[in-house]
Amino acid sequence: MSGLGRETMNNIREQIEFDVLFVGGGPASLAGAIHLMKLAKSRGLDLEVALIEKGANIGAHELSGAVLNPIALKELIPNYREEGCPVERDVRGDEFYFLTGTRHHEVPFVPKYMHNEGFHIISLSKFVSWLGRIAEGLGVNVFPGFAGKEVLYGEDDRTVIGVRTGDKGVGKDNTSKANFEAGIDILAKVTLFGEGPRGSLLQAISNKLHIFEGKMPQVFETGIKEVIQLPETNYFSDSRGNDIHTFGYPLGLNTHGGGFIYEMKENRVSLGLVVGLSYQDPLLDLYEEFIRFKRHPFINELIKGGRVIEQGARTIITGGYYTMPKLAVDGGLFVGGSASMLNAPALKGIHTSMKSGMLAAEAIVESFNKGGDFTQESLGYYHQLFENSWLKKEIYMGRNFTQAVSKKGLIKFLHVGAQYLTGGRGIFDKMPLDDDSKSLNPLKRVDSYRTARYEKQAYDGTLFVDKLTGVYLSKTQHREDQPCHLIVHDPDLCMNECFETYGCPCTRFCPGNVYELEVDDNTHEKRLKLNPSNCLHCKTCDIKDPYGNITWTCPEGGDGPGYTIA
Ligand SMILES: Cc1cc2nc3c(=O)[nH]c(=O)nc-3n(C[C@H](O)[C@H](O)[C@H](O)COP(=O)(O)OP(=O)(O)OC[C@H]3O[C@@H](n4cnc5c(N)ncnc54)[C@H](O)[C@@H]3O)c2cc1C
Repeated sequence: MSGLGRETMNNIREQIEFDVLFVGGGPASLAGAIHLMKLAKSRGLDLEVALIEKGANIGAHELSGAVLNPIALKELIPNYREEGCPVERDVRGDEFYFLTGTRHHEVPFVPKYMHNEGFHIISLSKFVSWLGRIAEGLGVNVFPGFAGKEVLYGEDDRTVIGVRTGDKGVGKDNTSKANFEAGIDILAKVTLFGEGPRGSLLQAISNKLHIFEGKMPQVFETGIKEVIQLPETNYFSDSRGNDIHTFGYPLGLNTHGGGFIYEMKENRVSLGLVVGLSYQDPLLDLYEEFIRFKRHPFINELIKGGRVIEQGARTIITGGYYTMPKLAVDGGLFVGGSASMLNAPALKGIHTSMKSGMLAAEAIVESFNKGGDFTQESLGYYHQLFENSWLKKEIYMGRNFTQAVSKKGLIKFLHVGAQYLTGGRGIFDKMPLDDDSKSLNPLKRVDSYRTARYEKQAYDGTLFVDKLTGVYLSKTQHREDQPCHLIVHDPDLCMNECFETYGCPCTRFCPGNVYELEVDDNTHEKRLKLNPSNCLHCKTCDIKDPYGNITWTCPEGGDGPGYTIA
């Protein structure tokens, strides 16, 4: 590592150089960094490696189900139990239910890709925090509280040479405050982007280097999740399964998604609802759907007497194999959710992300061994490794899955059944999305839906908490006096057009109450009010805004949720 100064307009911007830089402290980057350090050591390579994470600590922004398939973990850390891997519970049985408005029906067979017996139920936040400590122990320079704000390119304007982190101490009015700290230019021979779904740097690279060219449109889902403390005697004390999945109510068959409840230790459960973002009803409110799910008599019975102790939300990228970007560019690699590395039928992306990071690490070591060739061609060895791995087999098997389940009505079951019998090929290989979901904006006009969709909810503040209490329980914090990290490009569009056409859907798709419609008591004038400090960093707004009018950017490093058990 070496440090030197460079003058900018009004301050000195520090530069630090590493051999390899990982952006994002999720399972993809951390598994990659650990594998890289171990491989480098075994090959006698002395590498300086850094990892930056926008959360205040490793794990603070990590939220998942989560059932972990330990296949990649076993390769990475064979004795992970002895090394203190924080496993909540082992899965002892799976249960799969179809929910109607008031009833539940157990599906007589659990699809093979949802057989989780023997897998581990974890808190992703705790798990990555543990991986972070292992990475540090192996010599990785881990920098939490640093958001990658800009991709740095070489003189040819296409070779990635590192990342600039965000400035700190900038006021709302864009002026430097007394505590101003300029962002740092972290330079590296290779930069790995592991930002998870809808990475802001990935978007910037995509616009410049067209890494998604020719690929099918990406598919996103948003999950809202809680950890609930149950009384000592509860459903799981003597239940068959501790890994429960549901479909049907409250979403019905035209919006894809479903629910999950996993048993954790100390009488806690992880409960969540995942909703496909290709939905068309502008009045659909993700948070209300989540609460309806919890109020279903069957779910309510499982969690009765409980108290919500953590809540949060995050998007998932489920498009699969045909939506994967180019995996390498000159000086850069894409891993994990950023690169669509998820087994969609199993709704599992942790082990696939970890394996992608590990394969990328192997390609990097090869590039160093080749005397330091970090061109796209050389780093593209990662793609070859991917094609010959179990990871490719898994992701390829689910290549048409999300496209099939996002079809409306019963036809989805025909497609899923056909895929099940043909190893993923199904009736159409390269299954297209519904015409409506292909466009940026699948929402229909609000007047075609203007019905009261939700009854007024009674929140008890314990087991049923409102959005703002949920934000409080996510421990989200942002420094108030900073430029708004949510860019609404044309605010007039919101009231002039979006309100009339879609009824301001941002007030409903954001699970954090960031977007609020205010009406002036006297003039009756409407205005969109933003509460960026509530932002859960789920990035749903960046994806679901019907006009593409909202861009999510990283706020000051260290801000955002403070998950500890999600
Ligand atoms: C509700 C829900 C349930 C799920 N259930 C399961 C499950 O049961 N099993 C399973 O295997 N998978 C599950 N998944 C999917 C799984 O969580 C993801 O596939 C996986 O976490 C992706 O790993 P990643 O490392 O690519 O990205 P992430 O886990 O998203 O990590 C990315 C990290 O990068 C940081 N970051 C992003 N941008 C920047 C930047 N510019 N600068 C610095 N840091 C940055 C983020 O703060 C974050 O910490 C679920 C996901 C959700 C949302």
